[in-house]
Amino acid sequence: MTRIALLGGTPAFPQGIPFARPDTPPLADVVERLTPSYERGMLTNGPLVAEFERRAADALQVDHVVAVASCTSGLILAIRALGADGDVLLPSFTFSATAHAAAWNGLTPRFAECVPESLQLDVADARARLEHKSVGLVLATHIFGAPCPVEDVEALGTAAGAPVVFDAAHGFGAMHDGRPVGGFGAAEVFSLSPTKPVVAGEGGLVATNRADVAEAVRLGRDYGNPGDYNTLFPGLNARMSELHAALGIESLARLPAALERRRELAAAYDAALSDIPGVVPQRIGAGDLSTFKDYTIVVHPELGVTRDTLVAGLQAEGVDTRCYFDPPVHRHKAYCDVPAVDLPVTERMAGSVVSLPLFGGLTDEMVATIAGCIERIGASGAAATDAASSHH
Ligand SMILES: *Cc1c(COP(=O)(O)O)cnc(C)c1O
Repeated sequence: MTRIALLGGTPAFPQGIPFARPDTPPLADVVERLTPSYERGMLTNGPLVAEFERRAADALQVDHVVAVASCTSGLILAIRALGADGDVLLPSFTFSATAHAAAWNGLTPRFAECVPESLQLDVADARARLEHKSVGLVLATHIFGAPCPVEDVEALGTAAGAPVVFDAAHGFGAMHDGRPVGGFGAAEVFSLSPTKPVVAGEGGLVATNRADVAEAVRLGRDYGNPGDYNTLFPGLNARMSELHAALGIESLARLPAALERRRELAAAYDAALSDIPGVVPQRIGAGDLSTFKDYTIVVHPELGVTRDTLVAGLQAEGVDTRCYFDPPVHRHKAYCDVPAVDLPVTERMAGSVVSLPLFGGLTDEMVATIAGCIERIGASGAAATDAASSHH
C-alpha cells in the first residue's frame, strides 16, 4: 500500500484540489447581458432583475419569484410576510442563517433533530417537540441540495397550524417527485452566493405561489415603500442590482449542463466509495434529484479513523473538504439564551459528516483518486490517528 501523506508519503494532489469553484459563465457573456442596462445608467430596479425573475419562475414552475440581495434577507422578508410570531420549529443541522432569519423576526428557535442517514429534519422528532406548545412557523432546509421530506414537513405545518417556509439555499434545480423544489410550502428561498448551484455573486430568490407573500416581499426589499415613500412597514434595502442579475441570468442558462455534470460526479463518488467500509453517502429520497450543492459522506467507526482524522489525512493529500454545520446551530453562541435542548443525533452527525470536493472541473479520475485516499487513510487506522493528533 502506498504510504499516506499524513505518514510521510507523497501527496496524491501536490497542487491541491479545491473544495468548490463556482461555475462562472464567460465574462464576455455577462458583460454583453449587462451592457444595455449599464449604458442607460440603470444599475438597480432595472429590466435584468425582472427578466431574471421571469426566467427563474419558469424554471421553478412557480407563479412568483422575487429577487433579493441574499437568501438571508429573502428568508427574513418571507417570514415577515407571513406575520409569524412565537416559536419556530426548525432543524439544528442547517446553516446559521436559517435560524437567524427567524430570530430577526422575533421568533424563538425550537430546534429539532435530523435523520442520521438523510441529514434532513426529523419530522417525527419535530412533531414530538410540538406537544403542549404552539409554534408560529415551521422552517426546513433542503440539506446539501437534496429535497427534505416535503409532504411530511407540510403535514407538520398543518398539524401545528403554522405556515411552512423552506430554506432552499442549496436547492435550485432539485426535484421532488417530478416537481422542482421551489413551489412547496408558503415560500422557498434560494441563495445565489458563490458555492450555490446558481450564482450571482451575492443574491437570493424568493419563490412562492402566493401573490400576497410575493407582494409583501417586493415591498419589503424596498424599505416597505409602495411607491409614494409612505412606507407600510419597516422594510429592508434587499434589492438585487442589475450587475448581479446579469450574472444570475447567465448562470441560470448554464444550470442544466452544470447539474448534469454534478450528478455524474456524485454517481462516480457513489461507485468509487461503495466498497469502503464505514463510508456512507447522504441518503437521498427515492425518486428525488439532488443538486449536489455538496456531496457529503457519513463516516462510521468501520472506516478505521474518525471524521477529523480523515479530514486531516485528506488535507495532507491536498484534498480540501468542509465539515458543514459543525457545530450545529443550537450550539452557537448566538443561541446560548435559547432554553437548552438535547439533540444527540444532531451532535453525532455534525461530528461524523464531511463534504468532498465537487465542481465542474473535477474529473472522474480525481474522484477515483480521492476515494483511494479515503480507503488508504482508513486502512492506516491508529497510525493515521496518532499522526493527525500530533499535527495539532
Ligand atoms: C448559504 C446559505 C444561506 C444563506 O445564503 P446567503 O445568500 O449567503 O444569505 C442560508 N441557508 C443555507 C442552508 C445556506 O447554505
